[in-house]
Amino acid sequence: MKINKAYASKEKALELYRSPLMELIYQAATVHREYHNPNEVQMSSLISIKTGGCSEDCGYCPQSAKYNTELEVHAMMGVDEVVGLAKNAKANGSSRVCMGAAWREVRDNRDFDKVVEMVQEINGMGMEVCATLGMMNEDQAKRLKDAGLYAYNHNLDSSKEFYKDIISTREYQNRIDTISNARKAGISVCSGGIIGMGETAEDRIGMLMTYVHMEQPPESIPINALVPVEGTPLEDQKPIEVWEMIRMIATSRILFPQSIIRLSAGRTQMSQEAQALCFFAGASSIFAGDKLLTTPNPEFNEDQALFEVLGMTPKKPFQDGDQPETKTDEKVEMAKKVRKEKEERKKNTSENDFKPRKITIK
Ligand code: SF4
Repeated sequence: MKINKAYASKEKALELYRSPLMELIYQAATVHREYHNPNEVQMSSLISIKTGGCSEDCGYCPQSAKYNTELEVHAMMGVDEVVGLAKNAKANGSSRVCMGAAWREVRDNRDFDKVVEMVQEINGMGMEVCATLGMMNEDQAKRLKDAGLYAYNHNLDSSKEFYKDIISTREYQNRIDTISNARKAGISVCSGGIIGMGETAEDRIGMLMTYVHMEQPPESIPINALVPVEGTPLEDQKPIEVWEMIRMIATSRILFPQSIIRLSAGRTQMSQEAQALCFFAGASSIFAGDKLLTTPNPEFNEDQALFEVLGMTPKKPFQDGDQPETKTDEKVEMAKKVRKEKEERKKNTSENDFKPRKITIK
């Protein structure tokens, strides 16, 4: 993945971010055309496989157990249910599935075994599989890679300086370490941020500078607009101006010409015209489906109508990298065996074998 060296300093990137909007968009669109098909958009579907009850205190997140929001907490979903949702997403044009679990970190337990199995199944369907599961170590990353994981999402959210105003339960460096563990395992990296949390333009660019200084910048950079949720510390934040979103997308596009820039949360607050400008400024991916983990998102049909108007088509999977191979995982095989035995036992205990006791009431 390339970086644009002309803007690799904070001063230069900030100057770019603040340049006249028409100039900025024109420059971003020019870079976009050079490296990407401007008429293609990647559709990703986000599935919340475990919702709420998280021990972290990310100030924007309704899934934190520390805040009193209306969110319904859901335990880990079953493999079949997630595979069913992935099939539906594929039928609606998505080429990528991102599975999100509200965990502080990955633990080596049965829930993780299930995630590994989900990755195997969805990779087997010919879709790119991404996961966002919190912090993870090198061994866990390797296990996910062997299952066929294509990408790992772990956002830096904002600059190092602003990060501590938003999250106190972990360090910025923890995030960088997890990203590096994904890299070491050969998984592509999806990492970006949220704007509209009260940060400055310097903070936004500061986050991009962290990516500039990585050995390799992320293959995918999601740019989210904060969706303030009642009950979270950021509930009263004023929605971000759409122009700021466009500036952030355009600046990211110019700085990281080969990466996929994702127009992520906050699309419901944007008009179709504003979304079109984001695509023109270099966004080439959206999240599809009516929910983004816990916040609202436009429905499949609305997106399809917009694509038709703009003459855009959904991108096919694995155009930017090879499909990973799925290897056998002992724990998953064991879980499958236990499940099969259980089903067999259930089948064998047929209704005919059941002989009710005769009870005489005197
Ligand atoms: S953003 Fe993730 S880690 Fe932070 S509270 Fe929400 S679910 Fe937990």
